[in-house]
Amino acid sequence: MEKVYSSENLIMAGHVKSLLECSGIACMIKNLNLSSGIGELPPVECWPEVWVINDEDYDEAMEIVNAAITDEQPSNTWWTCACGETIEGQFTTCWLCGTERPDR
Ligand SMILES: [Zn+2]
Repeated sequence: MEKVYSSENLIMAGHVKSLLECSGIACMIKNLNLSSGIGELPPVECWPEVWVINDEDYDEAMEIVNAAITDEQPSNTWWTCACGETIEGQFTTCWLCGTERPDR
């Protein structure tokens, strides 16, 4: 077991997991049992983590993760969700309400 990714954004962690599984890499998400209140970010050690099951998949998994992170950063500008929350440009989904970023 090797950790290849962690993010405070569970949606991003799930996205990475899907990408790895599409490439035939067995993986799982740890720290799914978050109990943070609304508007309160969990501490770093409680962030969702993506782990590959087989250590030999680690290098390939990291390449996929790095490519995915790059793809998810079309811009570093902030955007405002319909719910009023301001979101960092690297995230394509509102962390508060789950709405996807509107096309610009
Ligand atoms: Zn929102």
